[in-house]
Amino acid sequence: MSTDINTDLNVDPAELSKFNAVASRWWDPEGECKPLHQLNPVRLRFIEDRVALAGKRALDVGCGGGLLSEAMASRGALVTGIDMASSPISVAKLHLLESGLEVDYQQISTEEFAAQHQAEFDVITCMELLEHVPDPSSLIHACASMLKPDGELFFSTLNRNARAFVEAIVGAEYLLKMLPKGTHRYDRFIRPSELARWCREANIEIKTLKGMGYNPLTQQFKLTDDLRVNYLAHAQRQDI
Ligand code: SAH
Repeated sequence: MSTDINTDLNVDPAELSKFNAVASRWWDPEGECKPLHQLNPVRLRFIEDRVALAGKRALDVGCGGGLLSEAMASRGALVTGIDMASSPISVAKLHLLESGLEVDYQQISTEEFAAQHQAEFDVITCMELLEHVPDPSSLIHACASMLKPDGELFFSTLNRNARAFVEAIVGAEYLLKMLPKGTHRYDRFIRPSELARWCREANIEIKTLKGMGYNPLTQQFKLTDDLRVNYLAHAQRQDI
């Protein structure tokens, strides 16, 4: 599997700058990362409905300031968080002093980390990252290669269609101002069919897809069957 991993750095420096710029406010529930705070309970529930986290070795790929890493650690998982941006990783490490939780945070590329950690993790999460990298397929291969044969892999990303453009870019960045302008590039959004193809090519199979629908009145996300904008995927290895 590892032969398909792109070993050139699969990173867009412009993307990292955006996340470095907001890092100091990562844990502010009303700051630029507000949508991640709002998504966190919904995606944690999706994960916990499929795997008991206590005692599991979990890897949070593109962990940012550590919202999901800490949530999984608080459920008893042994969590490693990796990200390529330096400031979010520093913030994530600092936040452990506040929460008292333990997470092993490292600034390293997913492909490089994967080369050292084949088939080691029970749970791998890769949330809101695929739409920020130049080669999402390589990232998916790297994630798949780090999963134990009976492990569980979770992705979330944004679909690519007119509705997603209107809600995730016009709505979230310009009208509701939930995210800084320029956070997302429409051409990098990913259709579920594309995600499914990349997963198959990496010998993993999507078991469940769920939408995460946003209600601007209650300011909450909830799991839905509508995949048109934000969606979550649960995948498992199929080479066993
Ligand atoms: N997964 C976290 C953060 C999502 S924001 C969450 O959902 O809460 C996207 C994160 O991906 C940022 O922290 C950014 O620094 C990181 N990132 C962007 N490009 C990356 C790359 N090529 N490799 C690793 N991390 C990357």
